[in-house]
Amino acid sequence: MDFNYSSEDEAFRRELRAWLEENLKDEMRRPQLGFMYEGDQGEWQKRLEWHRKMHASGWIGVGWPREYGGRGATLLQQLVYGEELGRAHAPDMVNGVGIGMAGPTIMTWGSEEQKRRYLPRILSAGEIWCQGFSEPNAGSDLASLQTQAVEQGDYFLVNGQKVWTSEAHHADMCILLVRTDPQAPKHRGLSYLLADMHSPGITIRPLTQITGDRSFNEVFFEDVRIPRKNLLGSKDQGWQIAITTLMFERTAVAGGRILINPMELASLAKSVERNGRPALEDGYVRDRIAHFLCEARALKYIGYRQLTRQLKGLPPGPEGSLLKLAASELNLRISSFAMELLGAYSQFNYRAPYAIDQGKWSYRMLAARALTIGGGTTEVQHNIIGERVLGLPKG
Ligand SMILES: Cc1cc2nc3c(=O)[nH]c(=O)nc-3n(C[C@H](O)[C@H](O)[C@H](O)COP(=O)(O)OP(=O)(O)OC[C@H]3O[C@@H](n4cnc5c(N)ncnc54)[C@H](O)[C@@H]3O)c2cc1C
Repeated sequence: MDFNYSSEDEAFRRELRAWLEENLKDEMRRPQLGFMYEGDQGEWQKRLEWHRKMHASGWIGVGWPREYGGRGATLLQQLVYGEELGRAHAPDMVNGVGIGMAGPTIMTWGSEEQKRRYLPRILSAGEIWCQGFSEPNAGSDLASLQTQAVEQGDYFLVNGQKVWTSEAHHADMCILLVRTDPQAPKHRGLSYLLADMHSPGITIRPLTQITGDRSFNEVFFEDVRIPRKNLLGSKDQGWQIAITTLMFERTAVAGGRILINPMELASLAKSVERNGRPALEDGYVRDRIAHFLCEARALKYIGYRQLTRQLKGLPPGPEGSLLKLAASELNLRISSFAMELLGAYSQFNYRAPYAIDQGKWSYRMLAARALTIGGGTTEVQHNIIGERVLGLPKG
């Protein structure tokens, strides 16, 4: 394997880095906090403005094909893109579901009219998207979902409830998985709708996370009319289309920017004390940080292995599950160790006065658990690895 980037990729990096240096103001730079940092309403507006600025200069949806308004960036350039945004401490983008999941699914399954209608507004954040898949009794076992859509002339009448719907409170549109044939086996009777979140009959109730943020919701559908032209693919073909979305989701959740760099722990350990000396001088602390660094490095190379498969045009291998599992668990252990280093200071919230590192570690600690659940739980990844990689019998 060649670990060097090509001259085109390096040119791409230089161009993006120069653009960020010129356009990303210091007050917009953020520590990488973890999944779903919401902040206050002002924060959302700032992120939206940042998104529009990036879009105006062609830096949104870089991996999308040019014909749909993207930059047609190669896989390696997309990796560079994530690295550079992380390096610059750029704020999280808005419309992650739209750009990372809904858009690519519409490109794969949508009619020409649907592509023309939805794709440009996804990139510009003219329409924000959310994902209405999970329900109170259908998460890991998604195909058990019960939200019903009954075809009536030129629309579907939808009744039911979704849960954990990230960003639904900001969303204009939703990729909505519904049951259209209750008699069919559970994977067969599903359909995939593109639902207008402003339709009458939709109620959104926020859920408060352990971090105090309210970035996901319960969404209730009562006699909601969704036009037939908003059906993606064919009726009852929803499971196949949902798998496309989930593959894009897994790549997004497992990919680049979620892992905390263990070197940040080393800087923390320099600034706090253990037994009256800088913690970094303590053998136990050094040993723990070195272990985290080795694990992070191993994960980086597993990521490269996955990338190599993609570059060779091979189907995704087991690396996706390994990476998702190991990265989210490592993230959690690094955050927990930071709490140990901080001692009593770990009690300060994010941005509390006197908090060390602005209190980012306590936020990260609280947010880290979400990554072990969203995009396929740790236990489900264990099952996949056990059955598909190790060939163990089903439990
Ligand atoms: C931060 C975050 C954002 C999310 N955003 C969205 C969103 O925008 N849209 C959306 O539709 N969903 C979203 N989700 C929901 C997410 O997809 C589900 O939480 C996830 O699929 C797990 O489902 P569940 O919560 O119903 O748990 P369950 O599936 O009920 O699982 C409960 C427990 O049982 C374990 N378990 C379940 N099945 C097995 C098994 N076969 N073997 C062993 N153990 C098992 C699980 O690992 C877990 O520990 C989000 C979740 C999080 C955490």
